[in-house]
Amino acid sequence: MSIKRLPEDMIGRIAAGEVIERPAAAVKELIENALDAGATSIVVSIAGGGVELIDVRDNGLGMSDADLVLAVERHATSKITSIEDLMALTTLGFRGEALASLAAVSDLTIRTLNASDGAGWTRRVRFGHGEPVERIAWAGGTAITARNLFENVPARRKFLRQPQTEAAYVGRVVGSYALAYPHVAFALEVEGRTTIQTDGRGDRISAAVGVWGEEIAGALVELHTPDDSPEGYAVSGVVTLPHVDRATRQTQHLFAQGRYINSRQIGAAFEQAYQTLLMVGRHPVGCICMTVPPDKIDVNVHPTKAEVRFAEERLVFALVQRAVREAIVANAPSPTIPTLVSSPLSDWNVQRRFALANPERGQQYQHPVASESPAVDSPAVEPVVAGGHRLPVLRVLGQVASSFIIAEGPDGMYMVDQHAAHERIMFERLMTDFVARSPDTQMLLEPVTLELSPRLWETYVTSRDDLQGLGFDLDEFGGTTILIRGVPAKLKVRNPGRMLETVLDEISSGGRGESRLESLAISAACHASIRANQALSLLEMRELVVQLEQCSSPLACGHGRPTMIRMTAEELAKQFSRR
Ligand code: ADP
Ligand code: MG
Repeated sequence: MSIKRLPEDMIGRIAAGEVIERPAAAVKELIENALDAGATSIVVSIAGGGVELIDVRDNGLGMSDADLVLAVERHATSKITSIEDLMALTTLGFRGEALASLAAVSDLTIRTLNASDGAGWTRRVRFGHGEPVERIAWAGGTAITARNLFENVPARRKFLRQPQTEAAYVGRVVGSYALAYPHVAFALEVEGRTTIQTDGRGDRISAAVGVWGEEIAGALVELHTPDDSPEGYAVSGVVTLPHVDRATRQTQHLFAQGRYINSRQIGAAFEQAYQTLLMVGRHPVGCICMTVPPDKIDVNVHPTKAEVRFAEERLVFALVQRAVREAIVANAPSPTIPTLVSSPLSDWNVQRRFALANPERGQQYQHPVASESPAVDSPAVEPVVAGGHRLPVLRVLGQVASSFIIAEGPDGMYMVDQHAAHERIMFERLMTDFVARSPDTQMLLEPVTLELSPRLWETYVTSRDDLQGLGFDLDEFGGTTILIRGVPAKLKVRNPGRMLETVLDEISSGGRGESRLESLAISAACHASIRANQALSLLEMRELVVQLEQCSSPLACGHGRPTMIRMTAEELAKQFSRR
C-alpha cells in the first residue's frame, strides 16, 4: 500500500477535527494503524501517563521511505482514494490525520521495515518539524514513539488528569482492543510493568484473563448472534453472568465493524438485558462486537470516529439485548455469596445468640402473624414488620448455606428463608384457587395407589372434599386404598403418594391451620416446597423473591415462622463501626 494525499473535495467531506485530545486517544489511533497494517502482535508502552512516552510496536507490513514522508502529512492515507471507499471501509483509519496530529504535538519517531523490499527506515518529526528520512537496520514491523506529548500546547496539558488516571484510560483502550481482536497478541507496559497481556490465539475468554484477570474472566460467557438475525448482522463478544458486577461502566466496551464505539443506546441495550438481575447502581462487564451490513453504518460522523450512526438502530439494539439475555439465561450459575454480606451475618449470629440468652438486652418485637415466635431478637437484625404487608422490590444477591437468600431492598439487607418463603407462596396459591373454586390439577401420567392405615383412611374420608377443592384428583380403589390421579398443578410434587400420606398424617395429629382446609393447604404447601440445603440458581432465587413479593402476607410461612429478617443499612454501618 502506498500513501497518497486525499483530493481537496474529499477532505471537505471527512468529519475533521482534533483527534488527539489525550494520551489514550493517541494510543487508540496507533493501535488502529497497527491493525490496519495487518499486525498480529502489538506492544504498547507508556510512561508518565503517556505524556512522557508512548511507544507502540507492531509486526505489520511497515512503510516505504516515500510513505514515511507522507504518513505524517495531513490527509495523506493509503486506505481510501474515493468516496466509494468511504462507503465500504475495510480499514479502521481513513482520514490520514492521526499521525499528522500526533507529530504536531509531540517529539515523534517512526521506525519501520517495508515488508515488500525489506528496507528499514526512520523519520523523526519534532512538534511538526520533520527531519529527513534515514535508512536503518530494523527487524520488522513498525514502532512509533511519541515523547513529551503537548509540550508545545500547555493549555492542552492542563486538561490532562493525574498520570495514573491517564494510564487507566490507556489501559481501557488497549484492553478493549485486546478483547475485540483476540487473534492479535496485545501487551501494555505501564512504567515498565506489564499490566495487560494476551496470547493472540483467538480465544476471547483467555484474552479476558489477560485484560480483566481471573475473577471476571471466570464469570464470562460468549455471545452468539440471535437465530433470526437479518443477513449481514452479527453479534459476538463476552459478558459477565450477573453474579459478577462493577460499580461503573468502565469495563464495558462496544465495537461495531471492528471499531471502538461510544453508544448510549447500545450500552443501554446491554444493561437492560440484566434487568432485575443486578442491583441498581451495579453494572455488568463485557465486550460486545457488532457487525452490520456496510451500508447500514456510517462511521464518518465524529472526529475520533468513536460515534457511529446505524441505519437500523432499533434492530441493532434488539439484537444486542437478545444476544446478551440469551447468553446469561443459558448459563445461569449457582452463585456464591459476596464475602461482604457473609461477615455481618456471622456477626449477626453471635449477636442473636447473645440476645436470646439475654432477653432484657434484646429488643421486643411483635410478629404480625406468628404469636409463638420468639419474643426477643437481636438488636442488629429486625424481623420484617413493614407497616403494610407488601414487600418492597428486592434485589437478590446470593444464597447462604444453600438455605437462605440474601437480597437488598430500599431499606437494607433481607435474609429470606427459602423453604418458608416457598411454602408461603404455595399456600397462598392453593388457597386462592380454592376460593375461586378453580383448582388447577396436574394429571399424573400413571395414577399412584396409596394404601392407608385405618387412622389415615378416616382422616382422608373427612378431608376428601377439601382435598378435591385444592386440586387433588382422588379415587377409592377398594378397602383403604386410594388412587391418586392428579395433584395440585401449583405444587411441585415429587412423590405424590408419600406427600399425601404425610399431609393426612399431619392433619390426623392436629394440623396447624385455623381450619381443616387451611391445615391441609399448609401441609401440602410445606411438603411440595423448595427445601433448605438446596442450591438455587440466581434466576430461581429471583423468581422465588418475585413470587413472594406478590403474596398478600409475605412475612411468615403457613406455620407462622418468619420468611425473612432484615438488617437495615444503618445497622450494617453500626456493625462496621461507621457510626
Ligand atoms: P489513516 O490511518 O487514516 O490512513 P494515519 O495518519 O493514522 O491515517 O496514518 C497515515 C498512513 O500512515 C496510513 O494510511 C498508513 O499507510 C501509514 N501507517 C501509519 N501507521 C502505520 C503502521 N503502524 N504500519 C504501517 N503503516 C502505517
Ligand atoms: Mg490511522
